[in-house]
Amino acid sequence: MRLVTFEQNGSSRLGVERADGIVDLRAADPGLPDDMLSLLEANTGLARARAAAATAGAEAVLALESVRLRAPIRNPRKVICVGLNYRDHAIESNMPIPPEPVLFSKFSSAVIGPGDNIEIPSVSTETDYECELVVVIGRRGRHISRDDAYAHVAGYTCGHDVSARDWQLKKPGGQWLLGKTFDSFAPIGPALVTTDEIPDPHTLGIRTVVSGELLQNSNTNQLIFSIPELIAYISQVITLEPGDLIFTGTPPGVGFARKPPRFLQPGDWVEIQIDGVGNLRNPCVAG
Ligand code: ZN
Repeated sequence: MRLVTFEQNGSSRLGVERADGIVDLRAADPGLPDDMLSLLEANTGLARARAAAATAGAEAVLALESVRLRAPIRNPRKVICVGLNYRDHAIESNMPIPPEPVLFSKFSSAVIGPGDNIEIPSVSTETDYECELVVVIGRRGRHISRDDAYAHVAGYTCGHDVSARDWQLKKPGGQWLLGKTFDSFAPIGPALVTTDEIPDPHTLGIRTVVSGELLQNSNTNQLIFSIPELIAYISQVITLEPGDLIFTGTPPGVGFARKPPRFLQPGDWVEIQIDGVGNLRNPCVAG
């Protein structure tokens, strides 16, 4: 099931992509909520949405062109990111292969959806792109074992870990937060694709296209720490809750490691492509 958050006539609701359009879940089943966090928090939310999408009549189906897609999860409680999780990317960054996951975070105020503007900060000259597979947590848990990890995953979406390298790497203090969490620096979407559609998330082609040029091209089989390893590691420290996002890291080819470097400029557009998950496209504008 491909779940989306959409806006129509000023109101935001949930939908499911179907061959004939987008099923308006509220129209198909008035008992369903109209935001993704509430749907994920409801014990039977996904099952009920699946049933509604399967049986919805034509009156509950909207043409894709008649709605505006938004970030599938607009208000995640946590946006957890993994740095240096592709071997080749660690090497191109002149960083050692990490013995344990390197974690940082973005604030939820950085989240935007498909088609929304990435604002290139006026105070950065080194805004960079990173394509990432994003795990969406579906069930609350702490001290989750690797074997139990997938039971806590609702699905996957495309993520773009936009990164101001000058703020990430050159500011005093030696931590990455500010460079990673400028407003608009966490595009996600277009859909939350549930786990039944992605039987193995570690075999997916993942690419970044910037203004027509293919600049990252890899596969999630190159991840150093797998999704179950990440969930087990993170949940030693943090209670994972429905709607939490885990950005799983980026492959090689980022702008600052290219010769010459290729940073994002107003007027560029960026498309993150992940096989079976979707294509997430955003224009860049002056912030
Ligand atoms: Zn990243």
